[in-house]
Amino acid sequence: MPPHTTRIKLPVSALCNVQCRFCDRNMDCAYTAPNGVASETLSVQESARYLAALLEKAEPPVEVCLSGSGEPLARPEETMATARMVRKAYPDVRISVATNGLALPGYAHDLAEAGVDCVRLSVADVDPSRLGGLVAFIRTGKRSMRGDDAMQVLLSQQKKGVAEARHNGLYTTVVVPVVPEINKDHMAEIAATLKDWGVDALELVPFEPREKSGLGKARPATKEDMEEALMAARSVMPSAIIGSLGGDVVSLLGEENAATLLRGIKLASQAEAVTDRPMPDLDRPYVAVATSDGEAVDVHLGHAETLLIYSNDNGLVTLHEARKTPPRGGGDNRWSALAEILSDVKVLIAAGAGDNPRTILADKGIDVRVYEDAPLQGAVLYAFGIKPKGRGKGKQ
Ligand code: SF4
Repeated sequence: MPPHTTRIKLPVSALCNVQCRFCDRNMDCAYTAPNGVASETLSVQESARYLAALLEKAEPPVEVCLSGSGEPLARPEETMATARMVRKAYPDVRISVATNGLALPGYAHDLAEAGVDCVRLSVADVDPSRLGGLVAFIRTGKRSMRGDDAMQVLLSQQKKGVAEARHNGLYTTVVVPVVPEINKDHMAEIAATLKDWGVDALELVPFEPREKSGLGKARPATKEDMEEALMAARSVMPSAIIGSLGGDVVSLLGEENAATLLRGIKLASQAEAVTDRPMPDLDRPYVAVATSDGEAVDVHLGHAETLLIYSNDNGLVTLHEARKTPPRGGGDNRWSALAEILSDVKVLIAAGAGDNPRTILADKGIDVRVYEDAPLQGAVLYAFGIKPKGRGKGKQ
């Protein structure tokens, strides 16, 4: 992209499908945030408001980068919907998506259709054994994989992702962190492999250890490390550059104003959601949650054998009891029986729910809300119309 492009990052996902050893998941993705900030995840509507405010200040050309705090393709529907919103509202901006590439092959076509122009693919190394020093595990579906086999899968998905991205007309920039103790002396080899994959551009970024990560004590990349790494990479790809991480929101607004803008947008949408949605009332004073541990909303309604029931006594939200759900099987009768069991529950929260149970329970006056792996406490407070604190990564 031209050097003067203003990059605005939209944090669309807090989830991630890999675990980099240099990542601290209390902060933004280490590939896209240079200084370890923690962003709120924005819904499509929140992104629209955020962008509208920022684009008033931004000098064109502008790149809107769909990014973390985690991996955008771990929440593909939200990512596509946000891309479509940006493309429709701002036909002239360049849209990029930052990704670790594990899920890219399945989504390159959809990204292009949604209006994305460019993929910023993070690749930590191209050698499986060195890569294992930088990535602890990957997650495909519900399965976690470690070791060389997992790294082979990640690399093969990244390579395939580049091919599919290019096939769909997406410009592909690969971002490589220069980690002095692991990959710095292999930059020519890395660049050669990436060139072979067919990437359009290569950006090297300096590794900065995050204290609470597995590589918290590793040596950061110095200016000399970066110059050496760049020279090696350029011996293969002369256009390689030292890239910039992060976005320009703070430089557009100032740190305090950027935080105030984000806070205002989150508060506005929480207030709207609360007034939009039926809250527990006198006849139905309880909220039910499908959870495995009482900490997170992490159980699909179809798999829930027990639901935790919460009550709200003048703002004091407490666990009231646990209730068994009807046995699995039995089709729609199971959901009618559940509606009976929950006749005093207004809101039921689960990590997933099929259309049938949602319809049957809604007919009986139960508002089923689906959140993906959200903190239980925040979700319950939210259901009671109490402003939750913390990061918003649920969806409805
Ligand atoms: S891709 Fe790696 S650095 Fe980025 S959020 Fe996922 S685990 Fe963290």
